[in-house]
Amino acid sequence: MQTFVQNRETTKIKKRVFIGLLSVSVLLIFGMILSGILIYYNRFGSWYRYVLLAIIAVLSLFILIVSIGLAGVVMTLLSVKRFFGLEGLMNASINMLFPLALAVGRMLRIPNDVIKSSYIEVNNKLLQSRNYSLKPEDILILAPHCLQKWDCPHKITTDASNCRHCGKCDIDKLLMISKKYGVNLAVVTGGTLARKKVKDTKPKAIIAIACERDLTEGIIDTNPLPVMGILNIRPEGPCKNTRVDLAKVTEAIDFFIKGKEQT
Ligand code: SF4
Repeated sequence: MQTFVQNRETTKIKKRVFIGLLSVSVLLIFGMILSGILIYYNRFGSWYRYVLLAIIAVLSLFILIVSIGLAGVVMTLLSVKRFFGLEGLMNASINMLFPLALAVGRMLRIPNDVIKSSYIEVNNKLLQSRNYSLKPEDILILAPHCLQKWDCPHKITTDASNCRHCGKCDIDKLLMISKKYGVNLAVVTGGTLARKKVKDTKPKAIIAIACERDLTEGIIDTNPLPVMGILNIRPEGPCKNTRVDLAKVTEAIDFFIKGKEQT
């Protein structure tokens, strides 16, 4: 029970990091608009004024749009409800502000991985506010190659079923899960192969297992395709003999197949 409460608290803190940075980014843009207005009235003369006025107008429109999107994100996260028609705007706002949020986080000395894992948490929570009822064959599990035992000789990136089920790594269990549910599984070496698998499989939802950097890039790349991100576990450091919480994988499959009410 204590662990469950701690997990919920960690999840809340994680989400707050990204939302906080997005809000600071919006305030920064707002500050730029205010500075522009002040300069407009005090310094500029002749045609420069009109250029500045145009920049202020564009920034004002931008801030208005992303603020509505951001408000939708916060309301969704607070109530875990779906705001019909706002999803596209919410996604676009997050993706447009993401680079700025990263830069602000760097200035505040917040590690990139913390910001990215917070972004993944926000992405997952937004997904969970929706209801899915997908066929298993429309779901693709994308797993990273580093899950495989580093000295395993079997080439599973061309075909995951080349695994000989020795049980030394989680690929064995992932294959069993994919077989049991009837979902697709692909083991990939990086973004290019991942994109190819997505193109070939044409899934309606993806369950992606990776590190913070790859997951973030994958979620942004495949947008608006829903991607449930699961961070890999790295007991031996990055990119070697990594693991995955298999319970999270089955929870994600259940969510996409049965919808949130039944998970
Ligand atoms: S479970 Fe499969 S992929 Fe993992 S080490 Fe054994 S044979 Fe290789």
